[in-house]
Amino acid sequence: MQKDSPVDVTVIGGGSAGIAAALAAARKGVRVMLIERSETLGGMSALANVNTFCGLYRQNEKAPPQLANKGIASEFAQLILKDSELTGPTRMGKVYVLPHTPKNFSKIARNLIAAEPLINCAFLSSCEAIEKSSTGYCIHYESPQKRHQIETKSIIDCSANACVAGLLGGHRVQESSNKLQRPSYVFSLTGVSSKAGSDHFKIQLSLDIVHAIRQKKLPEAIMGASLRISPIDDLCFISIDLEASRDQWNPNDPTAVASSLSAGAKLAETFTDFLKAHYPAFHEAGPIQPPKQLGIRESYRWVGQYELTKEDLIHGKSFEDTVAFASWPMELRETHRGAKFTFFKNEVASIPLRCLTSKEFKGIYFAGRCISADHEASASTRVMGTCLATGDATGQAAAAFSRGISDPYEQASMINT
Ligand SMILES: Cc1cc2nc3c(=O)[nH]c(=O)nc-3n(C[C@H](O)[C@H](O)[C@H](O)COP(=O)(O)OP(=O)(O)OC[C@H]3O[C@@H](n4cnc5c(N)ncnc54)[C@H](O)[C@@H]3O)c2cc1C
Repeated sequence: MQKDSPVDVTVIGGGSAGIAAALAAARKGVRVMLIERSETLGGMSALANVNTFCGLYRQNEKAPPQLANKGIASEFAQLILKDSELTGPTRMGKVYVLPHTPKNFSKIARNLIAAEPLINCAFLSSCEAIEKSSTGYCIHYESPQKRHQIETKSIIDCSANACVAGLLGGHRVQESSNKLQRPSYVFSLTGVSSKAGSDHFKIQLSLDIVHAIRQKKLPEAIMGASLRISPIDDLCFISIDLEASRDQWNPNDPTAVASSLSAGAKLAETFTDFLKAHYPAFHEAGPIQPPKQLGIRESYRWVGQYELTKEDLIHGKSFEDTVAFASWPMELRETHRGAKFTFFKNEVASIPLRCLTSKEFKGIYFAGRCISADHEASASTRVMGTCLATGDATGQAAAAFSRGISDPYEQASMINT
């Protein structure tokens, strides 16, 4: 067992929330450890091929895109634009999104983290146990070589499944299986002509898919397929929402996840064969590049000092301790047949620090997909732009906590929104 040097803040998970949390805490001058189970930064983007940033811009279809959050979310938006040489965000229906490639996002994150001497990263390392200690918490984690122990004053749970609540016995909840957001299999193809990116092509393809399903030439599951051509690196990303095992779907059951992943791989093959056979734009398409992991949209989330609700987002409830803004409509994918959107009355909705703060444990925060929000509200706050913003806020709050400031309202007053 190796005892690591103690730190002020430990971040569990290196997805969009964890990257922002670690950066924000270190930039406040505290020592940070970032523990990530995979070999890379980026979370669902790097592991499951999520290739569009949502939640970066305010909901306003009549105005040019305006950033919803200051700080690290806006820094990433600028760096992604610069790095990808895109001319700007693109409109998707009533909202703006920022297309990116998972590789670019990971690279930008790696460079920003490497520039902070106060951050140490442990990759291929999984947080396995946490206990209270005289200075705060003692975390046990396993890297491929060793078992480690690290003392920390504060923890930010960016695991996307509230793993810290699971390990500490905190209050966490998960939606019932039949309502949980469906998982998705997102793969990419090289060599697809840019013609496949036009609206005309996509509309025709949707009609053709419906027709082919009726004629039993494609399985019904392909109904949830969508595609995006990335002009940055000549990739075509194809996403297939999966019904999974419907009433038995459990994103924490490795057998259920493995079986959805293999079902997704089979559908990807069938659909790619169909595209290659019917559309010249796909005649030169290269072999399927599979995701490293299944795309999981929803699992456990914390129940914190406040639970953000659907009504709060719709009506734009204001909070004294607002630290971030949600701006993506609530996007529910409870079946594999596509999304249902619910928009807000205002351009953004407030997220209070209390829904990023434990009600049971001092110095425990959560950001990203596992924040304290109901099923519908989290269908908005889970997107990566908002995850960057909640990560940023918790990094600053945890840094303040490690310096002795524990009141969420006082911490919130120190966070620049
Ligand atoms: C198919 C799909 C499509 C999506 N489309 C979009 C989109 O177009 N735009 C958008 O903005 N969002 C999209 N999302 C949502 C978005 O990708 C996620 O909600 C977001 O990435 C969550 O960020 P996070 O940092 O909370 O978690 P994640 O990105 O999931 O990162 C969590 C990290 O924690 C690590 N981890 C977990 N447990 C442990 C542990 N015990 N120890 C150490 N590390 C651990 C994991 O390895 C992972 O890297 C999509 C999601 C899916 C699944």
